[in-house]
Amino acid sequence: MFWAERDDFGLVRSLGLHFGQLGIPGGMSLTPDAANQWKASFAETGFTLVTVFAAFEGESYADIPTVCATVGFVPPATRHAREQRFIEVSDFAARLGAPTVACHIGCVPEDHSDPDFAAMRDLVRRVCDHAARLGQAFALETGQERPEVLVDFIRAVDRPNLRVNFDPANMVLYGSGDPVEALRLLAPWVISVHMKDGDPPPAGKPEALGVERPLGRGAVSIERFLAALKGIGFTGPLNVEREAEDQAERWRDIASAVQQLTRRN
Ligand code: MG
Repeated sequence: MFWAERDDFGLVRSLGLHFGQLGIPGGMSLTPDAANQWKASFAETGFTLVTVFAAFEGESYADIPTVCATVGFVPPATRHAREQRFIEVSDFAARLGAPTVACHIGCVPEDHSDPDFAAMRDLVRRVCDHAARLGQAFALETGQERPEVLVDFIRAVDRPNLRVNFDPANMVLYGSGDPVEALRLLAPWVISVHMKDGDPPPAGKPEALGVERPLGRGAVSIERFLAALKGIGFTGPLNVEREAEDQAERWRDIASAVQQLTRRN
């Protein structure tokens, strides 16, 4: 996945990639002009946009409690504004012809009697219904809760266009369970994947997040994950995601991941 910078798209293309996901930062202007410029770039280069991914202003991934307090549709103070923003992202994605929109919705409450559970369920229903009117699926990113909790939430939302963007590294980084077992459980809903790697949180620090690693150098076991994808009959594109702060390191790791995955095909 690349974020919405022209230079990034040039680098993506230089790696020979023809498919990918576009990340929209919280503050990005979503004008029809911006959509038209991206659309022209994709058409010129024969690039297929798989997903438009939204992030929101004010989100922090400092540690697990901070993620649960700031990310996605969980914080009540920003819930309405973020819903409106996501609707705008959905409209922007429709102008680009993207078939799927996605985001981290945040840490889903396990308890159905928690008022946040009903609020998030109803919000996700509205977001799904808007996306459906545009012919889009809405994909939730995995990892911030155990897969059983996500399955339970998906069933509660009960919308046919609600799907999953499966990120195996997140399962490891948040200590949310074995990625391969989670993939099997979520298989009916998986529409896209992130090829990302990472190590689990340090022992004795339950609030800490694990550390993201270059693909193939973390605890995910990419061979096992690819075999599991084959096992569930997944035939979609493998979207490399790398979030390293250092941009030179980030692009070096993405290029290496693309090489690893291309060698297997
Ligand atoms: Mg991801």
